[in-house]
Amino acid sequence: MNVTNHSTTLMTNPFENAMAQLQRAAEVLVHSSSFIEKKKAVEQKLEILKYPQRILNVTIPVKMDNGSLRIFQGYRVQFNNARGPYKGGIRFHPQVSLDEVKALGFWMAMKCAVADIPLGGSKGGIIVNPKELSERELERLSRGYARAIADCIGPDRDVPAPDVNTTGQIMGWMVDEYINKKRAEIVSSISRVLRSSLREAPSAQGSKLPKLTAPQISCLRSTFTGKLIKDGGSEGREEATGLGGLFVLQAILAKLGLKGKLTAAVQGFGNVGFNVAKFLKDSGFTVVAVSDSKGGIYVPEGLDPEMTLANKKKTGALGGGKKITNAELLELPVDILVPSALESVLTRENAPKVKAKVVLEMANGPTTPEADAILYKNHIHVIPDILANSGGVTVSCFEWEQNLKGQHWTKDAVNKKLKTKMGVAAGNVWDASRKHKTDLRTAAFVVALERILRAIK
Ligand code: NAD
Repeated sequence: MNVTNHSTTLMTNPFENAMAQLQRAAEVLVHSSSFIEKKKAVEQKLEILKYPQRILNVTIPVKMDNGSLRIFQGYRVQFNNARGPYKGGIRFHPQVSLDEVKALGFWMAMKCAVADIPLGGSKGGIIVNPKELSERELERLSRGYARAIADCIGPDRDVPAPDVNTTGQIMGWMVDEYINKKRAEIVSSISRVLRSSLREAPSAQGSKLPKLTAPQISCLRSTFTGKLIKDGGSEGREEATGLGGLFVLQAILAKLGLKGKLTAAVQGFGNVGFNVAKFLKDSGFTVVAVSDSKGGIYVPEGLDPEMTLANKKKTGALGGGKKITNAELLELPVDILVPSALESVLTRENAPKVKAKVVLEMANGPTTPEADAILYKNHIHVIPDILANSGGVTVSCFEWEQNLKGQHWTKDAVNKKLKTKMGVAAGNVWDASRKHKTDLRTAAFVVALERILRAIK
């Protein structure tokens, strides 16, 4: 395989990394466009993808349990909606920055296009360590953020979802707040019309919140995905990112001809990391290591992710194996390395020490462009985030569709559709990598860009 020029400068800014990836794929795409005029049009449209369409910067005042007021800073970046309403998770983390949210919004646009779902890309975040908040403070913060972005979201505008440190419960608070705000707006617009156009005094009835019908509520609920089932969530959404990752991995391993009892190490043990570890074990892989923000455990004969999670819930820490650091986990002698925590963990410094044959990027942006070049040179196959973790947004898309149509699909139906989608996406990316003689990441970007550029008018 051939790779287009990888930059060798040190970059840890996720947005700069994302733009370097775009640049690499753009070169392949422009090179493969046959006519000069077509090349010009492609270059012009590519320019659009270097900038988010809208950046929302919000401040959220929250009354803390001790009576004090704390102001939190949040963002919503709507990157591109050429293929459909914006779609992207909301992250609660002390290291959230505008550049990180921009990168994540850009990757979402690419991911939805790779998975071929009719949605664009966005992302949101709040600078906060949620572990320092009580549950009531967390609820007030979540509701405050939903109010702050309410005018820019909606089933046909922008559809948020969970990401790092946000859960189905948090989506439930946000969607409830959003629906209440929308109801209140309907009331105030009715009384405005009554007062200004019909010169009537608002009636007592006018000040009450209007009753919405069940289909209207279901449609409004589609504004957020990743909700609990009781709030209109989809069967299979919670584990969809992990399960989708397994389907993609199986499809790519079959293409690579890699078989047998393969070992895996998973960095990050949250929603994505736990589920991918569980599905890997259930389908015959030996999961030898997992980690969280405090460090990891190594069990060469294999561990049981469900027992490990149950144990962590009891003791508050990962246990039952040899203690290792997150850095050590990335360098273990395994077949499959699965970064499932945060971005930029595989860098120029540690990439030469990676021993895995395949890196399955379940986190967004875990590999810097310099690390990518090193892994490629060392014949390590990197299954890129925009393909590997696209199962989550795919089932989010199913949830959005079910809410809009007032339906509730079975888990079996959801998982079957997910498997088909992931198989097709992995096949498309593999074929593009053969066609353009390039790595899987560049191929995935080429697939996504072709679809997005076609949709840009
Ligand atoms: P989560 O909050 O449920 O879990 C994050 C995990 O990472 C936790 O176990 C945490 O302890 C661990 N962690 C945090 N900092 C770490 C560090 N420095 N080193 C090692 N581990 C660390 O979040 P999640 O939803 O599982 O998301 C994980 C990654 O997957 C993120 O990159 C996210 O953007 C991506 N992702 C999530 C979804 C989804 O559906 N939740 C979908 C696509 C991609």
